[in-house]
Amino acid sequence: MKDYSIQTLGRCIGAVLELVLSPLNVKIIFQVSRRRKSSKVPGLGSKVPHDIRQRYVSFFLEEFLKVCATVNEAFGKALKEEKAIYDRCGSKNIYLNIAVNTLKKLRDHSSLSIHGKFLQKGKTDSFTGAALYTLFKEYTLSEEQLKENGFPEPNPEKPGSALLCNRRAKTAASDSFKRVCSRCGGIYTVTSSGRHVRKEECNYHSGKVLRHKVPGGLETRYSCCEGVIGSPGCQVAKLHVHDGRKENMDGFVKTLIKPVPLDGNYGAFALDCEMCYTTHGLELTKVTIVDPSLHVVYDTFVKPDNEIIDFNTRLSGVTAEDVKSTVTSIRDVQAVLLNLFNADTILIGHSLENDLFALKLFHNKIADTSVVFPHRLGLPHKRALKNLVADYLQRIIQDDGKTLLQM
Ligand SMILES: [Zn+2]
Ligand SMILES: [Zn+2]
Repeated sequence: MKDYSIQTLGRCIGAVLELVLSPLNVKIIFQVSRRRKSSKVPGLGSKVPHDIRQRYVSFFLEEFLKVCATVNEAFGKALKEEKAIYDRCGSKNIYLNIAVNTLKKLRDHSSLSIHGKFLQKGKTDSFTGAALYTLFKEYTLSEEQLKENGFPEPNPEKPGSALLCNRRAKTAASDSFKRVCSRCGGIYTVTSSGRHVRKEECNYHSGKVLRHKVPGGLETRYSCCEGVIGSPGCQVAKLHVHDGRKENMDGFVKTLIKPVPLDGNYGAFALDCEMCYTTHGLELTKVTIVDPSLHVVYDTFVKPDNEIIDFNTRLSGVTAEDVKSTVTSIRDVQAVLLNLFNADTILIGHSLENDLFALKLFHNKIADTSVVFPHRLGLPHKRALKNLVADYLQRIIQDDGKTLLQM
């Protein structure tokens, strides 16, 4: 690490994050274009399109950076300014009107400031090929970190199988025909082929459990609906689902060792997978791979091996239509990946262990933004990608179909 200046490393962190974000951008563009095509009534909060709001946050940020002492302070102010306008406006036109005027005022103000630009935006264009590979390598996980974060490991006694060693694995129900729903926690019964014995709705909370300080102690509520713990779910799905990934440990492949390339560049790619629930648990249903020039090199829907019971569309963006028209199986995907990657290719992503389990891929050269930027409380806590992006790239990303403005 000593060979690189702080500035160079800073740029590289930016590049790692940009790259992690790139498959996500593909997903967002995909979802937005689909939303435009469908005639669905837009949901709440859509009076001003997301891209317009993001543009003004960036404009405001640019001005605040000239007058604030830290990036965080500038970003906080830019978000606050934009949100105030959004809350005040009744329509897109009023929003634009106020936003343009605010920007003008900020520009007048910051041009008077003597601080000038303090943040030189680093471009990563100067790093390509082997140089970029070498920089990315500084961020790859150690063997210990791979273990700690629950990456799949080959079972030495059973070729093509992964070891069951994730300390965070949920305990499966003891009866092999009983399943624990991974959304609502309810127990349900399945047939020998994994189908539901009774069709029963799943009522669950999509959010996380958050602890708030209140007078006299702590209060725990769900982030989705602010309901108290134990309150009836705010989301309804047709059926219960189970994770199942820790029960399906076969069918894994391992990336192959390749002779040293002439330029020393084994390649680096960002990776993102989507999964849906089948009768056998979570299975791969989409994969997107982007190269360091942010070109999409592989983007495909995948037909799961087992019957789909829930597309998980809210999170994955994948619909029945998408999968109906695909014949690509996970084995086809693995064949492509083994060609594209070798054992020394650096794979970049956020909580990539989930993607590798979905792909059933053993790989050790991993740059994971959930490890590069750890949560201050340590594992199992992880920082959300949207927060990292807001902090380090000063950008707002969409999550769950909603515009997120909180940090
Ligand atoms: Zn809820
Ligand atoms: Zn359920």
